[in-house]
Amino acid sequence: MEHTLVIVKPDAVARGLIGEIIRRFEAEGLAVRGLKMVWLAQKEAEGFYRVHRQQPFFDSLTRFMSSGPCVPMVLEGEGAIGRVRTLMGATDPQKAAEGTIRRSLATSIERNVVHGSDSAASAAAEIPYFFSRLETLPAVVAGNSSST
Ligand code: UDP
Ligand code: MG
Repeated sequence: MEHTLVIVKPDAVARGLIGEIIRRFEAEGLAVRGLKMVWLAQKEAEGFYRVHRQQPFFDSLTRFMSSGPCVPMVLEGEGAIGRVRTLMGATDPQKAAEGTIRRSLATSIERNVVHGSDSAASAAAEIPYFFSRLETLPAVVAGNSSST
């Protein structure tokens, strides 16, 4: 089983879309295996998005991500990483396919309601950024390489 980190971003939490976003993933057979609400400090958002630190949108993105609470979660399923990316749609909601979460709900390329890990390596780094061993079920901690 594969695991991925999803975040319901602060714009979606503020708009009352937590349930709608989780519903869309669960409806596709992805299982929630870890879930919490946190309010990141800007430094913590910078740490999470450090791969983008050279990007022109970095300061605005990390201010946005620390502007209110967000809801990180671990989702589990066969091919979960790729399936979540498909269900989210392209980063820019105007370019996202019809029916995707971002196309349906997002308001801009920055305020695009949801994050999903883009690779197994990203998921392996991003899950422990938010979740300790005690906060996820045992199979998540065992990692994507396990045969469980
Ligand atoms: N982002 C932005 N402007 C851009 C590209 C990205 O504000 O031109 C934000 C957006 O919130 C995006 C996040 O930065 O989700 C991370 O960018 P990435 O390219 O990793 O997109 P994602 O993997 O989230 O689709
Ligand atoms: Mg990304």
